[in-house]
Amino acid sequence: MKRGVSTEQLNWEQYQKDFAALAEIGQNNTGGVDRLAYTEADQQAHGLLAKMAEEAGFEVKWDGAGNLWITRRGTDDGNEKMPPLILGSHMDSVPDGGKYDGLLGVMTAFHAMRLLDGAPQRRTVTLIVFRCEESSRFNCATIGSKLLAEQLNGEKLKSCVDKDGISAYDAIRELGGNPDNLFQERKYIKNAFGFIEMHIEQGPVLQERNTDIGIVGHIAAPYRLKITVEGTAAHSGACPMGSRNDALTGAAEVILAVENLGRQYSSQRIVATVGKCDVINEAINIVPGHVELFVDIRGIDKEIMSEVVGKLHEELERIAAERKLRIEPAILSQETPVRLDDDMAELLVEQCLPNRLTFLHMVSGAGHDTMYMAGLTRATMFFVPCEKGISHNKKEAVSDEAIQNGLKLMYSVLLRICNLDPDVEKEKEEMERRFMEAM
Ligand SMILES: [Zn+2]
Repeated sequence: MKRGVSTEQLNWEQYQKDFAALAEIGQNNTGGVDRLAYTEADQQAHGLLAKMAEEAGFEVKWDGAGNLWITRRGTDDGNEKMPPLILGSHMDSVPDGGKYDGLLGVMTAFHAMRLLDGAPQRRTVTLIVFRCEESSRFNCATIGSKLLAEQLNGEKLKSCVDKDGISAYDAIRELGGNPDNLFQERKYIKNAFGFIEMHIEQGPVLQERNTDIGIVGHIAAPYRLKITVEGTAAHSGACPMGSRNDALTGAAEVILAVENLGRQYSSQRIVATVGKCDVINEAINIVPGHVELFVDIRGIDKEIMSEVVGKLHEELERIAAERKLRIEPAILSQETPVRLDDDMAELLVEQCLPNRLTFLHMVSGAGHDTMYMAGLTRATMFFVPCEKGISHNKKEAVSDEAIQNGLKLMYSVLLRICNLDPDVEKEKEEMERRFMEAM
Protein backbone atom coordinates (compact mmCIF):
# COMPACT_ATOMS: atom_id res chain seq x y z
CA MET A 1 0.00 0.00 0.00
CA LYS A 2 1.61 3.22 -1.13
CA ARG A 3 -0.98 5.71 0.03
CA GLY A 4 -1.82 6.29 3.66
CA VAL A 5 -5.24 6.23 5.28
CA SER A 6 -7.02 9.59 5.31
CA THR A 7 -8.80 10.90 8.39
CA GLU A 8 -12.06 10.89 6.39
CA GLN A 9 -11.73 7.12 5.97
CA LEU A 10 -11.70 6.53 9.71
CA ASN A 11 -15.43 6.82 10.41
CA TRP A 12 -14.33 8.87 13.38
CA GLU A 13 -17.78 9.75 14.72
CA GLN A 14 -18.73 6.13 15.16
CA TYR A 15 -15.41 5.42 16.83
CA GLN A 16 -15.90 8.24 19.31
CA LYS A 17 -19.47 7.23 20.07
CA ASP A 18 -18.59 3.59 20.71
CA PHE A 19 -15.48 4.42 22.69
CA ALA A 20 -17.49 6.78 24.92
CA ALA A 21 -20.18 4.14 25.50
CA LEU A 22 -17.56 1.66 26.75
CA ALA A 23 -15.43 4.18 28.67
CA GLU A 24 -18.50 5.18 30.65
CA ILE A 25 -18.98 1.71 32.12
CA GLY A 26 -17.69 1.64 35.70
CA GLN A 27 -17.12 5.38 35.82
CA ASN A 28 -17.32 6.69 39.40
CA ASN A 29 -18.59 10.10 40.50
CA THR A 30 -15.12 11.64 40.55
CA GLY A 31 -14.53 10.82 36.90
CA GLY A 32 -12.26 7.80 37.47
CA VAL A 33 -12.97 4.32 36.14
CA ASP A 34 -13.61 1.35 38.46
CA ARG A 35 -13.76 -1.58 36.09
CA LEU A 36 -11.89 -4.24 38.01
CA ALA A 37 -11.49 -7.66 36.41
CA TYR A 38 -14.46 -10.04 36.47
CA THR A 39 -16.67 -7.53 38.31
CA GLU A 40 -20.12 -6.48 37.13
CA ALA A 41 -18.70 -3.44 35.32
CA ASP A 42 -16.13 -5.58 33.51
CA GLN A 43 -18.87 -8.02 32.52
CA GLN A 44 -21.01 -5.18 31.26
CA ALA A 45 -18.16 -3.84 29.10
CA HIS A 46 -17.53 -7.29 27.63
CA GLY A 47 -21.26 -7.67 26.96
CA LEU A 48 -21.55 -4.31 25.20
CA LEU A 49 -18.49 -4.92 23.00
CA ALA A 50 -19.80 -8.39 22.11
CA LYS A 51 -23.10 -6.78 21.08
CA MET A 52 -21.29 -4.20 18.91
CA ALA A 53 -19.27 -7.03 17.33
CA GLU A 54 -22.39 -9.04 16.53
CA GLU A 55 -23.98 -5.97 14.99
CA ALA A 56 -20.89 -5.63 12.81
CA GLY A 57 -21.38 -9.22 11.65
CA PHE A 58 -18.42 -10.71 13.53
CA GLU A 59 -18.30 -14.02 15.39
CA VAL A 60 -18.19 -13.76 19.15
CA LYS A 61 -17.20 -16.23 21.87
CA TRP A 62 -15.70 -16.36 25.36
CA ASP A 63 -12.92 -18.80 26.21
CA GLY A 64 -12.27 -20.73 29.43
CA ALA A 65 -10.55 -17.71 31.04
CA GLY A 66 -13.45 -15.42 30.14
CA ASN A 67 -11.41 -13.70 27.41
CA LEU A 68 -13.67 -12.33 24.65
CA TRP A 69 -12.84 -13.49 21.12
CA ILE A 70 -14.14 -11.44 18.17
CA THR A 71 -13.47 -12.87 14.72
CA ARG A 72 -13.89 -11.44 11.26
CA ARG A 73 -13.45 -14.24 8.73
CA GLY A 74 -11.40 -13.60 5.62
CA THR A 75 -11.94 -15.14 2.18
CA ASP A 76 -8.97 -17.50 2.71
CA ASP A 77 -10.20 -18.72 6.10
CA GLY A 78 -9.01 -22.29 6.64
CA ASN A 79 -6.16 -22.00 4.12
CA GLU A 80 -3.06 -23.14 6.02
CA LYS A 81 -0.85 -20.82 4.00
CA MET A 82 -2.90 -17.83 5.13
CA PRO A 83 -3.21 -18.24 8.92
CA PRO A 84 -5.17 -15.67 10.93
CA LEU A 85 -3.83 -12.47 12.43
CA ILE A 86 -4.53 -11.85 16.12
CA LEU A 87 -5.01 -8.49 17.81
CA GLY A 88 -5.55 -7.91 21.52
CA SER A 89 -5.56 -5.80 24.66
CA HIS A 90 -7.68 -5.51 27.82
CA MET A 91 -10.68 -3.62 29.21
CA ASP A 92 -10.25 -4.00 32.99
CA SER A 93 -8.92 -1.01 34.94
CA VAL A 94 -7.15 -0.23 38.19
CA PRO A 95 -9.34 1.35 40.91
CA ASP A 96 -10.10 4.98 40.00
CA GLY A 97 -8.17 4.49 36.77
CA GLY A 98 -8.17 6.26 33.42
CA LYS A 99 -10.26 5.79 30.29
CA TYR A 100 -7.54 4.80 27.86
CA ASP A 101 -5.34 2.14 29.46
CA GLY A 102 -6.34 -1.06 27.66
CA LEU A 103 -9.64 0.14 26.24
CA LEU A 104 -7.96 2.31 23.61
CA GLY A 105 -6.11 -0.69 22.19
CA VAL A 106 -9.23 -2.85 22.20
CA MET A 107 -11.40 -0.23 20.51
CA THR A 108 -8.72 0.65 17.95
CA ALA A 109 -8.36 -2.99 16.96
CA PHE A 110 -12.13 -3.51 16.88
CA HIS A 111 -12.79 -0.38 14.85
CA ALA A 112 -9.97 -1.19 12.41
CA MET A 113 -11.64 -4.57 11.87
CA ARG A 114 -14.91 -2.78 11.06
CA LEU A 115 -13.10 -0.48 8.64
CA LEU A 116 -12.25 -3.56 6.55
CA ASP A 117 -15.85 -3.43 5.23
CA GLY A 118 -15.65 -3.28 1.46
CA ALA A 119 -11.87 -3.86 1.43
CA PRO A 120 -10.21 -7.11 0.36
CA GLN A 121 -9.56 -9.40 3.33
CA ARG A 122 -8.04 -12.81 2.70
CA ARG A 123 -6.81 -13.69 6.20
CA THR A 124 -9.13 -14.03 9.16
CA VAL A 125 -8.61 -11.51 11.97
CA THR A 126 -9.36 -12.27 15.62
CA LEU A 127 -9.38 -9.75 18.44
CA ILE A 128 -8.84 -11.15 21.93
CA VAL A 129 -9.96 -9.00 24.85
CA PHE A 130 -7.81 -10.39 27.65
CA ARG A 131 -9.19 -10.63 31.17
CA CYS A 132 -7.58 -9.25 34.27
CA GLU A 133 -4.52 -7.50 32.86
CA GLU A 134 -4.28 -5.34 35.99
CA SER A 135 -3.05 -6.86 39.23
CA SER A 136 -5.30 -4.61 41.36
CA ARG A 137 -8.01 -7.10 42.22
CA PHE A 138 -6.22 -10.41 42.76
CA ASN A 139 -2.62 -9.25 43.15
CA CYS A 140 -1.94 -11.18 39.97
CA ALA A 141 -1.57 -9.48 36.57
CA THR A 142 -2.33 -10.61 32.99
CA ILE A 143 -4.40 -13.62 34.07
CA GLY A 144 -6.18 -14.12 30.72
CA SER A 145 -3.02 -14.11 28.61
CA LYS A 146 -0.99 -16.10 31.16
CA LEU A 147 -3.61 -18.86 31.18
CA LEU A 148 -3.52 -18.98 27.38
CA ALA A 149 0.27 -19.23 27.46
CA GLU A 150 0.26 -21.89 30.21
CA GLN A 151 2.10 -19.57 32.58
CA LEU A 152 -0.74 -20.05 35.07
CA ASN A 153 -3.32 -22.72 35.76
CA GLY A 154 -6.53 -23.20 37.70
CA GLU A 155 -4.72 -24.59 40.73
CA LYS A 156 -2.47 -21.53 41.07
CA LEU A 157 -5.43 -19.20 40.53
CA LYS A 158 -7.03 -20.56 43.69
CA SER A 159 -4.42 -18.71 45.73
CA CYS A 160 -5.00 -15.37 43.92
CA VAL A 161 -7.59 -13.90 46.26
CA ASP A 162 -9.23 -10.45 46.35
CA LYS A 163 -9.98 -8.38 49.47
CA ASP A 164 -13.31 -10.15 49.97
CA GLY A 165 -11.73 -13.59 49.88
CA ILE A 166 -12.94 -14.46 46.35
CA SER A 167 -10.29 -16.25 44.31
CA ALA A 168 -9.66 -15.58 40.62
CA TYR A 169 -10.43 -19.25 40.09
CA ASP A 170 -13.90 -18.87 41.63
CA ALA A 171 -14.53 -15.62 39.74
CA ILE A 172 -13.86 -17.43 36.44
CA ARG A 173 -15.95 -20.46 37.42
CA GLU A 174 -18.78 -18.15 38.42
CA LEU A 175 -18.89 -16.81 34.85
CA GLY A 176 -19.06 -20.36 33.53
CA GLY A 177 -15.41 -20.47 32.50
CA ASN A 178 -12.82 -23.18 33.06
CA PRO A 179 -9.27 -21.85 33.30
CA ASP A 180 -7.82 -25.28 32.50
CA ASN A 181 -9.70 -25.63 29.25
CA LEU A 182 -7.89 -23.42 26.74
CA PHE A 183 -6.35 -26.07 24.53
CA GLN A 184 -8.16 -25.11 21.30
CA GLU A 185 -7.47 -21.42 21.79
CA ARG A 186 -3.78 -21.99 22.52
CA LYS A 187 -3.47 -24.01 19.34
CA TYR A 188 -5.20 -21.27 17.34
CA ILE A 189 -2.70 -18.66 18.57
CA LYS A 190 0.27 -20.98 17.98
CA ASN A 191 -0.81 -21.45 14.37
CA ALA A 192 -1.48 -17.74 13.76
CA PHE A 193 0.41 -15.34 11.49
CA GLY A 194 1.26 -13.18 14.49
CA PHE A 195 -0.08 -10.88 17.18
CA ILE A 196 -0.35 -7.08 17.51
CA GLU A 197 -1.31 -4.96 20.52
CA MET A 198 -1.76 -1.20 20.57
CA HIS A 199 -1.56 0.58 23.93
CA ILE A 200 -1.00 4.03 25.38
CA GLU A 201 2.63 4.57 26.27
CA GLN A 202 2.09 5.25 30.00
CA GLY A 203 5.37 7.16 29.97
CA PRO A 204 6.51 10.58 28.67
CA VAL A 205 8.98 9.61 25.92
CA LEU A 206 6.81 9.95 22.79
CA GLN A 207 5.37 13.29 23.86
CA GLU A 208 8.77 14.65 24.88
CA ARG A 209 10.20 13.69 21.52
CA ASN A 210 7.13 14.81 19.59
CA THR A 211 6.76 11.39 17.98
CA ASP A 212 3.52 9.72 16.81
CA ILE A 213 4.22 6.02 17.31
CA GLY A 214 6.45 3.93 19.57
CA ILE A 215 7.35 0.53 18.18
CA VAL A 216 8.13 -1.76 21.08
CA GLY A 217 11.11 -4.08 20.63
CA HIS A 218 11.42 -5.35 24.19
CA ILE A 219 9.25 -5.56 27.25
CA ALA A 220 11.35 -5.10 30.35
CA ALA A 221 10.89 -7.52 33.22
CA PRO A 222 10.83 -6.56 36.86
CA TYR A 223 13.17 -8.07 39.42
CA ARG A 224 11.66 -7.33 42.79
CA LEU A 225 13.14 -7.69 46.20
CA LYS A 226 12.41 -6.90 49.78
CA ILE A 227 15.37 -5.65 51.75
CA THR A 228 15.22 -5.90 55.53
CA VAL A 229 17.51 -3.54 57.41
CA GLU A 230 17.96 -4.34 61.06
CA GLY A 231 19.69 -2.15 63.62
CA THR A 232 18.85 -1.47 67.24
CA ALA A 233 15.83 0.50 68.33
CA ALA A 234 16.70 3.09 70.97
CA HIS A 235 15.41 6.16 72.79
CA SER A 236 15.90 9.22 70.58
CA GLY A 237 16.87 11.32 73.57
CA ALA A 238 18.90 8.94 75.65
CA CYS A 239 20.98 7.20 72.94
CA PRO A 240 24.08 9.27 71.97
CA MET A 241 24.88 9.60 68.25
CA GLY A 242 28.04 7.52 68.52
CA SER A 243 26.20 4.52 70.02
CA ARG A 244 23.46 4.17 67.44
CA ASN A 245 22.55 1.41 64.96
CA ASP A 246 19.94 3.42 63.06
CA ALA A 247 18.19 1.13 60.55
CA LEU A 248 16.51 4.04 58.73
CA THR A 249 19.68 6.01 57.98
CA GLY A 250 21.18 2.73 56.73
CA ALA A 251 18.06 2.20 54.59
CA ALA A 252 18.51 5.73 53.22
CA GLU A 253 21.95 4.73 51.95
CA VAL A 254 20.45 1.63 50.38
CA ILE A 255 17.83 3.76 48.58
CA LEU A 256 20.56 6.01 47.18
CA ALA A 257 22.62 2.98 46.14
CA VAL A 258 19.61 1.64 44.19
CA GLU A 259 19.16 5.00 42.47
CA ASN A 260 22.87 5.23 41.67
CA LEU A 261 22.87 1.80 40.05
CA GLY A 262 19.85 2.78 37.94
CA ARG A 263 21.68 5.92 36.81
CA GLN A 264 24.95 4.11 36.19
CA TYR A 265 23.23 1.55 33.93
CA SER A 266 20.59 3.81 32.36
CA SER A 267 22.21 3.62 28.91
CA GLN A 268 21.72 -0.16 29.14
CA ARG A 269 18.01 0.43 29.77
CA ILE A 270 18.01 -0.25 33.49
CA VAL A 271 15.59 1.55 35.81
CA ALA A 272 15.76 0.97 39.56
CA THR A 273 13.29 2.18 42.17
CA VAL A 274 12.56 1.90 45.87
CA GLY A 275 8.81 2.51 45.87
CA LYS A 276 7.94 1.47 49.39
CA CYS A 277 9.67 1.89 52.72
CA ASP A 278 8.17 0.68 55.99
CA VAL A 279 9.61 1.71 59.32
CA ILE A 280 8.47 -0.91 61.82
CA ASN A 281 7.38 0.49 65.18
CA GLU A 282 7.87 4.02 63.90
CA ALA A 283 7.66 6.94 66.30
CA ILE A 284 9.17 10.38 66.48
CA ASN A 285 11.09 9.52 69.62
CA ILE A 286 12.53 6.15 68.60
CA VAL A 287 15.78 5.57 66.71
CA PRO A 288 14.47 3.11 64.05
CA GLY A 289 15.53 -0.47 64.63
CA HIS A 290 13.82 -2.25 61.75
CA VAL A 291 13.09 -1.05 58.19
CA GLU A 292 11.73 -2.86 55.15
CA LEU A 293 12.43 -1.58 51.64
CA PHE A 294 10.78 -2.76 48.43
CA VAL A 295 12.93 -2.56 45.32
CA ASP A 296 11.87 -2.83 41.67
CA ILE A 297 14.64 -3.14 39.07
CA ARG A 298 13.79 -3.46 35.38
CA GLY A 299 15.82 -4.10 32.28
CA ILE A 300 15.72 -5.80 28.91
CA ASP A 301 18.87 -7.91 29.15
CA LYS A 302 19.09 -10.81 31.58
CA GLU A 303 22.87 -10.54 31.97
CA ILE A 304 22.88 -6.80 32.63
CA MET A 305 20.08 -7.34 35.14
CA SER A 306 22.10 -9.90 37.07
CA GLU A 307 25.17 -7.63 36.95
CA VAL A 308 23.10 -4.83 38.53
CA VAL A 309 21.65 -7.18 41.13
CA GLY A 310 25.17 -8.45 41.91
CA LYS A 311 26.44 -4.90 42.42
CA LEU A 312 23.47 -4.12 44.63
CA HIS A 313 24.39 -7.08 46.84
CA GLU A 314 27.96 -5.74 47.14
CA GLU A 315 26.60 -2.35 48.15
CA LEU A 316 24.35 -3.95 50.75
CA GLU A 317 27.31 -5.74 52.29
CA ARG A 318 29.36 -2.55 52.33
CA ILE A 319 26.59 -0.51 53.99
CA ALA A 320 25.90 -3.27 56.52
CA ALA A 321 29.60 -3.45 57.49
CA GLU A 322 30.09 0.33 57.68
CA ARG A 323 26.99 0.92 59.75
CA LYS A 324 27.04 -2.31 61.76
CA LEU A 325 23.59 -3.31 60.55
CA ARG A 326 22.10 -6.57 59.39
CA ILE A 327 20.82 -6.15 55.81
CA GLU A 328 19.00 -9.03 54.17
CA PRO A 329 17.62 -9.08 50.65
CA ALA A 330 14.84 -11.52 49.69
CA ILE A 331 13.65 -12.04 46.11
CA LEU A 332 9.93 -11.37 45.62
CA SER A 333 9.74 -12.00 41.89
CA GLN A 334 12.11 -12.47 39.04
CA GLU A 335 10.68 -12.31 35.53
CA THR A 336 12.44 -12.67 32.22
CA PRO A 337 12.53 -9.75 29.77
CA VAL A 338 10.73 -10.43 26.50
CA ARG A 339 12.10 -9.64 23.06
CA LEU A 340 9.38 -9.04 20.48
CA ASP A 341 9.44 -10.07 16.82
CA ASP A 342 11.48 -7.99 14.35
CA ASP A 343 9.56 -9.00 11.23
CA MET A 344 6.24 -8.06 12.81
CA ALA A 345 7.75 -4.71 13.89
CA GLU A 346 8.98 -4.20 10.33
CA LEU A 347 5.41 -4.53 9.07
CA LEU A 348 4.44 -1.67 11.39
CA VAL A 349 7.38 0.48 10.26
CA GLU A 350 6.42 -0.12 6.64
CA GLN A 351 2.94 1.32 7.30
CA CYS A 352 4.18 4.37 9.24
CA LEU A 353 5.80 5.82 6.13
CA PRO A 354 2.76 6.15 3.79
CA ASN A 355 0.73 7.45 6.72
CA ARG A 356 3.39 10.08 7.45
CA LEU A 357 3.70 8.89 11.02
CA THR A 358 6.95 9.50 12.86
CA PHE A 359 8.08 6.57 14.94
CA LEU A 360 10.62 5.53 17.50
CA HIS A 361 11.87 2.07 18.45
CA MET A 362 11.45 1.74 22.18
CA VAL A 363 11.27 -0.45 25.24
CA SER A 364 8.17 -0.98 27.32
CA GLY A 365 8.96 -0.60 31.00
CA ALA A 366 5.47 -1.80 31.92
CA GLY A 367 4.25 -5.37 31.45
CA HIS A 368 1.53 -6.19 28.90
CA ASP A 369 -0.45 -9.19 27.62
CA THR A 370 1.87 -9.15 24.58
CA MET A 371 4.62 -10.64 26.81
CA TYR A 372 2.70 -13.90 27.01
CA MET A 373 1.50 -13.91 23.41
CA ALA A 374 5.18 -13.67 22.42
CA GLY A 375 5.66 -17.17 23.80
CA LEU A 376 3.01 -18.53 21.45
CA THR A 377 3.38 -16.56 18.22
CA ARG A 378 5.35 -13.71 16.58
CA ALA A 379 4.24 -10.72 18.60
CA THR A 380 4.64 -6.98 18.28
CA MET A 381 3.27 -3.94 20.04
CA PHE A 382 2.99 -0.21 19.42
CA PHE A 383 2.34 2.81 21.60
CA VAL A 384 0.62 6.12 21.06
CA PRO A 385 1.54 9.06 23.31
CA CYS A 386 -0.55 9.99 26.34
CA GLU A 387 -0.50 13.41 28.00
CA LYS A 388 2.60 13.82 30.19
CA GLY A 389 2.84 10.05 30.45
CA ILE A 390 0.16 9.99 33.16
CA SER A 391 -1.59 6.61 33.51
CA HIS A 392 -3.36 4.43 36.09
CA ASN A 393 -5.02 7.69 37.07
CA LYS A 394 -8.20 9.48 36.09
CA LYS A 395 -6.07 12.31 34.65
CA GLU A 396 -5.01 9.94 31.86
CA ALA A 397 -5.57 11.76 28.54
CA VAL A 398 -4.89 11.03 24.87
CA SER A 399 -5.38 13.58 22.06
CA ASP A 400 -7.77 12.86 19.18
CA GLU A 401 -4.83 13.15 16.82
CA ALA A 402 -2.88 10.47 18.70
CA ILE A 403 -5.89 8.13 18.59
CA GLN A 404 -6.41 8.76 14.89
CA ASN A 405 -2.74 8.06 14.23
CA GLY A 406 -3.01 4.75 16.08
CA LEU A 407 -6.15 3.88 14.17
CA LYS A 408 -4.53 4.72 10.82
CA LEU A 409 -1.57 2.49 11.61
CA MET A 410 -3.74 -0.36 12.91
CA TYR A 411 -6.01 -0.26 9.87
CA SER A 412 -3.11 -0.04 7.40
CA VAL A 413 -1.22 -2.92 8.94
CA LEU A 414 -4.41 -4.98 9.11
CA LEU A 415 -5.10 -4.40 5.43
CA ARG A 416 -1.51 -5.24 4.56
CA ILE A 417 -1.25 -8.43 6.61
CA CYS A 418 -4.72 -9.70 5.70
CA ASN A 419 -3.70 -9.69 2.07
CA LEU A 420 -0.04 -10.58 2.42
CA ASP A 421 0.47 -13.77 0.48
CA PRO A 422 3.80 -15.50 1.21
CA ASP A 423 3.99 -17.01 -2.30
CA VAL A 424 3.31 -13.70 -4.02
CA GLU A 425 5.88 -11.98 -1.80
CA LYS A 426 8.48 -14.57 -2.73
CA GLU A 427 7.70 -14.14 -6.40
CA LYS A 428 8.02 -10.38 -6.10
CA GLU A 429 11.41 -10.72 -4.42
CA GLU A 430 12.57 -13.09 -7.15
CA MET A 431 11.46 -10.64 -9.85
CA GLU A 432 13.27 -7.80 -8.10
CA ARG A 433 16.42 -9.91 -7.83
CA ARG A 434 16.35 -10.75 -11.53
CA PHE A 435 15.71 -7.13 -12.41
CA MET A 436 18.72 -6.04 -10.36
CA GLU A 437 20.88 -8.71 -12.02
CA ALA A 438 19.85 -7.54 -15.48
CA MET A 439 20.83 -3.93 -14.72
ZN1 LIG B 1 -2.93 -1.71 30.10
